[in-house]
Amino acid sequence: MKERIEELRRLLKQYNYEYYVLSKPTVSDQEYDTLMHELIDLENEYPEYQDENSPTKRVGGYVASEFEKITHRKQMLSLGDIFTEEEVRAFDKRIRETLKTDKVEYICELKIDGLAMSILYEDGKMVYGATRGDGITGEIVTENVKTIKSIPITINEKTTLEVRGEVYMPRKSFERLNAQAEKEGTIPFANCRNAASGSLRQLDSRICAKRGLDMFMYTFVDADKFGITKQSDALNYLEKELGLRTNPERKVCLGIDEVLSFIESISLKRPNLAYDIDGIVIKVNDMTTYDKIGFTSKTPKHSIAYKFPPEEVVTTLEDIIFTVGRTGKITPNAVLTPVKVAGSVISRATLHNEDFVNEKGIMIKDKVIIRKAGDVIPEVARCLPERRLGEEKEFKMITHCPVCGSELVKHEGEVAHFCDNIHCDARNVESIIHFASRNAMDIEGLGEASSELFYNLGLIKNISMIYSLKEKEEELINLDGFGKKSITNLLNAIEESKSNSLERLLFGLGIPNIGQKTAKMLAKEYLTLEKLQEVTYNELISIRDIGDIVANSILDYFENEENQKLIETLKENNVNTKYLGIIETSDNPFKDKTVVLTGSLVNFTRDELTEKLEDLGAKVSGSVSAKTSFVVVGENPGSKYEKAKSLNIKILTENELLELLK
Ligand code: NAD
Repeated sequence: MKERIEELRRLLKQYNYEYYVLSKPTVSDQEYDTLMHELIDLENEYPEYQDENSPTKRVGGYVASEFEKITHRKQMLSLGDIFTEEEVRAFDKRIRETLKTDKVEYICELKIDGLAMSILYEDGKMVYGATRGDGITGEIVTENVKTIKSIPITINEKTTLEVRGEVYMPRKSFERLNAQAEKEGTIPFANCRNAASGSLRQLDSRICAKRGLDMFMYTFVDADKFGITKQSDALNYLEKELGLRTNPERKVCLGIDEVLSFIESISLKRPNLAYDIDGIVIKVNDMTTYDKIGFTSKTPKHSIAYKFPPEEVVTTLEDIIFTVGRTGKITPNAVLTPVKVAGSVISRATLHNEDFVNEKGIMIKDKVIIRKAGDVIPEVARCLPERRLGEEKEFKMITHCPVCGSELVKHEGEVAHFCDNIHCDARNVESIIHFASRNAMDIEGLGEASSELFYNLGLIKNISMIYSLKEKEEELINLDGFGKKSITNLLNAIEESKSNSLERLLFGLGIPNIGQKTAKMLAKEYLTLEKLQEVTYNELISIRDIGDIVANSILDYFENEENQKLIETLKENNVNTKYLGIIETSDNPFKDKTVVLTGSLVNFTRDELTEKLEDLGAKVSGSVSAKTSFVVVGENPGSKYEKAKSLNIKILTENELLELLK
């Protein structure tokens, strides 16, 4: 165990150096935090290996020799960090026990992702601006601090006073800086915090001046000299009496439940802030209790940082594999070392096509950043070439279908490669899976694994054979892993699917370029499959939202003899080919209304709810405007929720929606 402890200390010291001195971290904050917590746990478990110089005991920064140094008047500490509601409640419990009270008054502030700065004023003039450094000694960067426009060089107060706060780089300045780096071919900064730190520690203040930094004050070191006893009053004083900039997004909370609601409300606002935050700092508001609550060598115990779950994490891209879609489209997929990002474990991510991989310069075995923000599907944001070990392999696009071996082709106007062999087993299996899928004919029991198995056994070779599966009931029941019950359920689901409305069938047929939305629109417009089969190019093109590509796709599909035969067989098997229409109920609040969905839903998938609402005559839109009638809000909603509130649009929780759907 001693070896692991030493290894962790060595790694964390190296990462501290790269982060604080070079402003060029080589691992993500999440990776760093995980290692730090592993070390804290091991040191607790094996107290015999305690060491006062361990990174767990020391404020992480450094003091570079290029700068003049200053000993801080009072040590500049770091903050303890916590990640879950449980830990927030445990923090509150500890404070309540120490202060022997039932309810504590806290102040919650945003945890700005920049670097801590101390500014000393004497006789109304700025004397120095200094970094946190190692907490005891800081680097004097006054000339650079003076380039930040919102920090006054003189104030209307003659007493010696020190304020502390966070210098940060607004997102706009960061984007500008990295765009410039890209243009000049230099290495971009990993995030706003490193960019701020790198800018502030420039020896030439003209460079810093161009970087667009800003600052929020959050500590009034000499507050007691002014008779101030609460952190909330200190912030108000800094702002109103001294003209120093503080962050307006703060709240005094009585009890921990109010703290938790504040955390939730800020996590919704976070994507729309003009600067990066990585959490919420929870502080006991009464500063006279701080000595009683105590300090560790690294952190005060009266405050703690709740950190948001990471939306960007680093993992290894183990391999790139290729899948064949039902249209023959070949997709390269990243096989990842499983990693948790924004709450879910990710082990695969699409790499879309050859151009995507090449543009990002991804190699097999690269460390890659996986990003997931809000509702977005996880994606490979970029690779980290600086972390290559030399064993990485170049990506090579395949030239032949990995399933049937046919040569791949590129269609005009498409970036992807295709397997054009319509008899390719992969394409056939994918068509069956798609036909039976939830948003299409919704045949439970005919998922990926069973479709593939039935296909390989010759039981279902194409879509129409699904409806003759009943004839093979005996054979199915005897298959390994299946029994009478599961086969009866499957056959019942197949039988039930026959009465689906036309739009499901249309989507399930897998006509190229016909998604769920277009299928629904066509079903509403033509009412029967027979009518749609006779439609002309001009008729189609006259429909709003249908262009040349979609019109030709539909015509090509129905002209194809094999497809015509398939439709005939489906009809012979009594599969419904009619649109079953909007559900008319006497009391329907959704008819002709525009509804927007945001956040994750518990009782429905997005698609299911969209379909349900559309069946009730609602239009489900992707963005909120003054014309929106309702916004349905699930867990962790995105910016649409904020917009709806600002426009006073009626908001429905999932439970309220369920009531209305009854
Ligand atoms: P921290 O950033 O987790 O928390 C303390 C800091 O929060 C304070 O020093 C202050 O600068 C800041 N802060 C922002 N808003 C504040 C507010 N309203 N009130 C009080 N303080 C506020 O701790 P740290 O010691 O500065 O840095 C440690 C963290 O830095 C690690 O947890 C890790 O995420 C990151 N780090 C990453 C690497 C890497 O290689 N990726 C290396 C070292 C550190």
